[in-house]
Amino acid sequence: TAMVARRVVAWRRWLRAMAVLRDVEESFATPTERLQRVVNSLAVEMFAGLASEDASKVRMLLTCVDSLPDGSEEGIYYAVDIGGTGFRFLKVQLGPGSTIINQKIERQPVKKELMEGTSEDFFNSIASTLKNFIEREGDEGRALGFTFSFPVRQFSITSGSLIRWTKEFSIEDAIGQDVAQCLNEALERNGLNLKVNALMNNTVGTLALGHYYDEDTIAAVIIGAGTNACYIERNEAITKCQCLLTNSGQTVVNVEWGSFRPPQIPLTPYDICFYNETTNYYDQGFEKMISGVYLGEIARLVFHKMAQESDVFGTDVDGLAIPFILSTPCLAAIREDDSLDLKEVGSILEEQLKIHNVPLKTRRLVQRVCDIITQRAARLAAAGIVAILQKLGRDGTLCGTTRVRSMTGVPKRSAIAIDGCLYKEYSVFREYLNEAVLEILGEEIAATVVLKVVEEGSGMGAALIAATYSSTRNNSI
Ligand code: BGC
Repeated sequence: TAMVARRVVAWRRWLRAMAVLRDVEESFATPTERLQRVVNSLAVEMFAGLASEDASKVRMLLTCVDSLPDGSEEGIYYAVDIGGTGFRFLKVQLGPGSTIINQKIERQPVKKELMEGTSEDFFNSIASTLKNFIEREGDEGRALGFTFSFPVRQFSITSGSLIRWTKEFSIEDAIGQDVAQCLNEALERNGLNLKVNALMNNTVGTLALGHYYDEDTIAAVIIGAGTNACYIERNEAITKCQCLLTNSGQTVVNVEWGSFRPPQIPLTPYDICFYNETTNYYDQGFEKMISGVYLGEIARLVFHKMAQESDVFGTDVDGLAIPFILSTPCLAAIREDDSLDLKEVGSILEEQLKIHNVPLKTRRLVQRVCDIITQRAARLAAAGIVAILQKLGRDGTLCGTTRVRSMTGVPKRSAIAIDGCLYKEYSVFREYLNEAVLEILGEEIAATVVLKVVEEGSGMGAALIAATYSSTRNNSI
C-alpha cells in the first residue's frame, strides 16, 4: 500500500504539471480569427501613426529614404551594422547590373559592459574596430552606411536621434543624441577620415538589399534578437512631418512594430512575470512575444512554474530560477530534436539548466512547451506581415488603402525581404509563420506574396544605401 500511495502522489504531481501545460496551451493560443483581428488592429495603428506618432502604438518613423538602389551603383563602400547581439563591419564592392563583386564581413559580439556603459565608450569601440578593419582592408572606400537597429527619429539621411533603447541595451546618455554624429565624432577621435553618408534602421538596409535583387520588394521584416518591419509608403498617405517628404512620391517608413501590444492577445502570467525582469520594462509588447531575446526566457518561466507545481524535473532545479539562462537557440534546438528518445532535449536540460536525468515524458513536455511558445511567436509575426499587406491594399480585403491589382485583375506580386536568425535558422518557426500567412490570406492572395530570406541584409543594404546617397541620385523607388 505504501507503494500505491507513492504512485498516487506521483500521479497527482504529474497531473499538476499537465494542468500547467493545458493552461499554457490555452493562454498562448492564436486561432486564425484572433490573428485576423491582430492584423486589423495593427493596420489601424499604422494608419494612425502616419498622422501622428502620439496617437498610435507604432511610431511609423520616416526614414528619409526616398531612393533605393537600382543596381547601377558601383564602387567600394563600407558599412557598420549595430544589431541586437553584435557589431558587423562590411566592405562591399559593387559592380554594374546588381552585381556584388566582393564583400568582406567581420562580426564581433557586443560585450554586456558596452550595452550598459557610456555612449562615448560605445561609439569609440565601434570606431576603433572600424579603423582596424579599414586598415586591414585598404582605405579606398567611398562612403559609409550606418545601420542602427533601434528607434531613431531621423532629421535627414545622415542624422537622427535615438528615441529609446530596446533589446536589453541601456546606454542612458545616448538617448536623445544624434547617433550618426556620435559615430562621426568617434571616427574623428580615432583619426578616421570618414563620415556617415547614410544612417538607417536594419529593416531599411534589408529592404534595400531585397529591392536590389527584386524590384517587387515592398517591405522588409527582421525577426532576430528583436523584431520590426519597414515598407514603402506613398507620400500622400503620410500626413505628419511633411518637411521630411521629398517629391519622389514615396518614402520608406520604419513601423517599429515591436512596441505594438495586440489587444486580442492576452498577456499570460509568464509574459507579465518577465516584464519585471527586463531592462526596458513593460514596453515592446509585440517584440517580447516574438523575438529572440525573449522566447527562451518565456520557456524558462513555464518550466519554473512546472517545477514549483510538481516534481517533473526532480528536486535539483535551482537552474530554473536563473533569469535568461535558457537562450532562444536552445529553445529552437529543443523543438527541433526529432530523435525518438529526445536526446538533445536531455543534453540541453543538463548543460544549460543543470537538471540531470530528466525522464522521457518530461522531455516531451519540455518540447511541447517550446513548440507552443514558438507557434505564438511565429503566428504573431505572420499577422504583422499581413498587416503591412493590408495597409498597402495587397491583402485582398477592402480594408487597406486601395486594392492593388495588376492589369489582369490578379493582385500584384508582393515580395517581402526577411532577415534575422529566428526566421533564417529556425525551420519550425519559419514553417509556422509561412503557414499562418497562408491561413490568414487564403491561397489565392498568398500565392502573390513571396517571403524571401535576404542574407546580411541590414549591413549590405547599408552599403547600398550609402552608395545610392553618395552618388547623383535619380533612382527613386
Ligand atoms: C528595434 C528596431 C529593430 C528591431 C530588429 C527592435 O528592438 O526597436 O529598431 O529594427 O529591434 O532588430
